[in-house]
Amino acid sequence: LFISFEGIDGSGKSTQARRLHEALTAQGRDVVLTREPGGSPGAEEIRRLVLEGETDRWSAETEILLFTAARRDHLEKTIRPALARGAVVICDRFADSTRIFQGITRGDLSQTVDQLHDLMIGIEPDLTLLFDLAPEAGLARATARKGHEMRFEDMGLAFQTRARAGFLDLAKRFPRYRVIDGDRSQEIIAAEVLQLVETALLP
Ligand code: C5P
Repeated sequence: LFISFEGIDGSGKSTQARRLHEALTAQGRDVVLTREPGGSPGAEEIRRLVLEGETDRWSAETEILLFTAARRDHLEKTIRPALARGAVVICDRFADSTRIFQGITRGDLSQTVDQLHDLMIGIEPDLTLLFDLAPEAGLARATARKGHEMRFEDMGLAFQTRARAGFLDLAKRFPRYRVIDGDRSQEIIAAEVLQLVETALLP
């Protein structure tokens, strides 16, 4: 089972991904927790190239190529081998983040994103959990976190608002989506996540 976690910055998805990994591991399952950009040594190098340094270091098009290259390596080295042996893969962000952050939030490059995806990636998660939260709340949480890599902090609320709407559109388009209200306690959200995933794991 291939599960992706999506949401705006500060939505709580990474915390929940770790909790789900712990809960499923405690059940004795083979679970791989991974993230994007990154998730393999090569893709983590590309992550550094893209996330460290100026936000405008790369053109939007070059950035799509870099994210797609990272995803391809991640797929080859981490995701496909794990799925092939029957593991549950929990991925903190996947292609939908590129559909939003490179595809629509700074001009419309959706077609380029989708074409490259078809050409080089071609796989979608079985289940995508969207951690939905008001951008004000997400931004407050994300900026409170020290040393966190956050690229669009200075682009502020308008940017996060567009990203949130973009994710909610994807949730309407793809049946693999479940929208989770991120404005609740960690424990309650974790219980809902586990229940959704256990349902998806039923034969
Ligand atoms: O999810 P995580 O906090 O690791 O993401 C790090 C930063 O990279 C975030 O600010 C996120 O918005 C950004 N990002 C991006 N394009 C992607 C994935 C993440 O700009 N495709």
